Amino acid sequence: MTEMADGVLAGNRRALARAITLVESSRADHREQAKALLEKVVPSSGNAVRLGISGTPGVGKSTFIEAFGQFLTAQGLKVAVLAVDPSSKRTGGSILGDKTRMEQLARDPNAFIRPSPSGGTLGGVARRTRETMILVEAAGYDVVLVETVGVGQSETTVADMVDMFLLLLAPGGGDELQGIKRGVMELADLIVINKADGDLLGAARRAATEYRGALGLIRPKHAAWRPRVRLASAREGTGIDEIWRDIGKFRDALAEDDALEALRREQARAWMWQELIDGLVQALIADARVAKALPDWEERVAAGDATPGAAADALRELFLAQTKG
Ligand code: GDP
Repeated sequence: MTEMADGVLAGNRRALARAITLVESSRADHREQAKALLEKVVPSSGNAVRLGISGTPGVGKSTFIEAFGQFLTAQGLKVAVLAVDPSSKRTGGSILGDKTRMEQLARDPNAFIRPSPSGGTLGGVARRTRETMILVEAAGYDVVLVETVGVGQSETTVADMVDMFLLLLAPGGGDELQGIKRGVMELADLIVINKADGDLLGAARRAATEYRGALGLIRPKHAAWRPRVRLASAREGTGIDEIWRDIGKFRDALAEDDALEALRREQARAWMWQELIDGLVQALIADARVAKALPDWEERVAAGDATPGAAADALRELFLAQTKG
């Protein structure tokens, strides 16, 4: 484990890839090793700019990340691209899984791209991505991009692990605005209207005006930062420098009253609670007596013979009686 940790800390890509594979494993002995590894490298983590990037499929996320990533590496920065996609299967060609995405960035020695851990619950995928973030930071990456697709709760999950959340939108008709959920708008620190080029430029400008209006109705996440709307063309590489400047301004604004550190502290606390809850639920489900009683209670609840509350109480009592003994 010391050797692997040293490799990660030295920025060795192979050691980093092996370390990530280790934290992604759910085998009990691997978990123990992963914990030891993370303990060794965690003091060297936390120095990256953590960015979340979301948007529905087709909006241009991979094209944008490719352009943005190359913009950053051209400035001498090291970029890691991670993903949170609970629907991803290793072979399913889901986000970042497809090798043809971000082809140029993937060949860049200062970029490291890792597909979403596959399988399991959103919580499990998120945990492994958080731990991977610690590893890439310890390996010296300056910017971590966490990509997610607009499915279910994944945006909230990603927003909870990054400093700043970018929402990519495409120029669309007037009904575009109704299509995106208000909840997702509320997470955004920066809205990027992508594909602001060629014939789409006019529509992109109109969309930007609409979104600026919509943002005005939403209570900002941070007292020190009002979310902005920017135009970009990932294909032509326009607007990228302005977005990077905005990211700098965001960090400066939040740094002023220690808000960025406060955000990270709160995220760490929430993560601990999530781990605690997940661990308890797993232990409960793995408990032999609970497992035996569970189908019966479920059936009684479904049939209306027991209330969900009473059934939950009974199962919890069973579990706690077990652990006390
Ligand atoms: P993703 O599914 O969100 O990752 O989207 P992709 O990056 O795969 O892009 C979807 C489609 O939109 C592709 O055909 C891209 O070539 C196109 N696209 C992406 N960015 C731009 C852009 O800035 N301008 C234009 N005109 N098309 C773009």
